[in-house]
Amino acid sequence: MQHGDRTKEQLDGELTAVRDPVSEGAAQDGSSASEEQYRDLYENAPDMMVSVDPATATIVQCNRTTLTKLGYSREEIIGRSIFDLYHPDCLEDVAKAFQAFKRTGEVCEALLQVTCKDGEKIDVSLSASAVRDADGTIVRSRSVWRDVTDSRRAERELRKTKGELERRIAERTEKLLEVNEKLASEITERKEAQEALRHAQKIEALGRLTSGLAHDFNNLLTVIQTNATLIADDLPPDATQTRSELRDVQDAARHGATLVEKLLSFSRRGMLSLKPLDLAGRVERLSDTLRRLLPASIEIQSSIEDRPLRIEADPDAIEQIVMNLANNARDAMPNGGILRIDVRRASLDEERCRRQGWGTAGKYVRLSVSDSGDGMDEATKEKIFEPFFTTKAAGEGTGLGMTIIFGLMKQQKGFVDVESAVGRGTTISVYFPLTSQEPEPVTPPQAEEKPPRGEGETILLIEDEEALRRAGKRVLERYGYSVLLGVDGEDGFRVFKGNSSRIVLVITDIVMPKMSGPEVHDMIRKETPDVRFIYTSGYSANDIHSGVPLDPTVPFVSKPWALSALVALVREVLDEVPSR
Ligand code: ADP
Ligand code: MG
Repeated sequence: MQHGDRTKEQLDGELTAVRDPVSEGAAQDGSSASEEQYRDLYENAPDMMVSVDPATATIVQCNRTTLTKLGYSREEIIGRSIFDLYHPDCLEDVAKAFQAFKRTGEVCEALLQVTCKDGEKIDVSLSASAVRDADGTIVRSRSVWRDVTDSRRAERELRKTKGELERRIAERTEKLLEVNEKLASEITERKEAQEALRHAQKIEALGRLTSGLAHDFNNLLTVIQTNATLIADDLPPDATQTRSELRDVQDAARHGATLVEKLLSFSRRGMLSLKPLDLAGRVERLSDTLRRLLPASIEIQSSIEDRPLRIEADPDAIEQIVMNLANNARDAMPNGGILRIDVRRASLDEERCRRQGWGTAGKYVRLSVSDSGDGMDEATKEKIFEPFFTTKAAGEGTGLGMTIIFGLMKQQKGFVDVESAVGRGTTISVYFPLTSQEPEPVTPPQAEEKPPRGEGETILLIEDEEALRRAGKRVLERYGYSVLLGVDGEDGFRVFKGNSSRIVLVITDIVMPKMSGPEVHDMIRKETPDVRFIYTSGYSANDIHSGVPLDPTVPFVSKPWALSALVALVREVLDEVPSR
């Protein structure tokens, strides 16, 4: 069939392809509308309308909109294969639409692309219906192509934007997650730092407390030691029994002084004196002591490996550790039980050292103290090394025993292990690194030489503790000096002013109420530069905070005085030839 040579029925058929209710209505009512109106409606419809001969797939008819949109002239397009128009990209979709059309006689809004004459591609939504002959054979397809390029482009843009947005969101999310993770680890770090700080503060508080306690103890020990020595000196030569009892008192006081020093040592590092020693021998001697100290209701068992167990450690620290452990065991067994001491070799691996945070893997000697007492729950076990943690009644526990053990073991490059369960007793083990070094032979204590005596020189002793003042006066008088006393800094200064012509030496405590030792020193020296001085204190020289800097040329003697050392120092200071 040729273009421009159509019957009215054919035209009607083509026109009904336009799914426009108005035109459909108009078509049914064909008698009242002029052909011109139909033509205009058809030619200038907003959509492209194309009729195709399905047998040859050639275009047999199209409206003007088609020509305008695609840029072809009517001559160029009529008789052309419809496949020339479809864009190669969509040929598969076209084939599908074609098959559907053959089967059902209909295509509904298939999305395809057609190529314009100038090569530009436009998106169309294609709907088609079939025109059949009397046998029902499809003789024509009438299709409407709606240009959806703009909406498709918008859709594509939208999809692109959406993709971009999704990508950005994903990126941001990832960044947020990263930040989140970083924050979490920062929080953990900060928590750990806070924990460490808290611990450090506790240890510091503890250091201050022990240093205060040590000061008081040192004063007491001085009184004990000095008086014991004075009494011993006064004894008739045949009082051997009393003399030996007094020696026990002096030994105990001396021992007390070393313990105080060690107690201070755990809060200040590096004060222990490590030396090679045999742990087995030490522990045997200590278990003898424990037998005397613990109540009879506690049975002591010990098992000590029978080969050299040499370690590098501080002997006083070992004693302190065993005593602390034994005290805790005793407290855990108020109704008696078994305390077991076990010493043997052990090896520790890398993993154990890592958990501990210090030390090296290798051979150790393990000293364990076990009791058959009540044991500990998890919460208690976690806290036992904390300073001041105690489950004991006020006045009974200080919460320092385990803290001290921990500090001492750390300084000796060792470890502490706690095994305990409620109702199943407790075993606490300390591990000392094994050494191959020979222990030093124990040197017997030297007999003290009698210090030289004075010649009646006058000494001013300024000391705020009454018992110490008394003891000091007696000692110095015993050694041939004449002694004046000051009860505090102010009083000492007053006494000095009244007797300045005969006082040759001032021995003064450092920390005192009203006026400190260094202040008295400065005031006296201003007026009488020649007078000699000795400082004394229960604090170690490092711990003194008197407010006034100490004159480093003034000799210092720490309490408790070893009586002979004090008297020897007095003589030395007095015999010194003045430099001026
Ligand atoms: P203190 O003995 O003054 O309480 P410690 O530091 O020695 O301080 O011990 C802290 C706490 O650890 C004790 O109060 C106790 O709860 C627990 N503890 C220590 N040793 C034992 C043990 N052998 N059996 C049961 N509990 C123990
Ligand atoms: Mg204790």
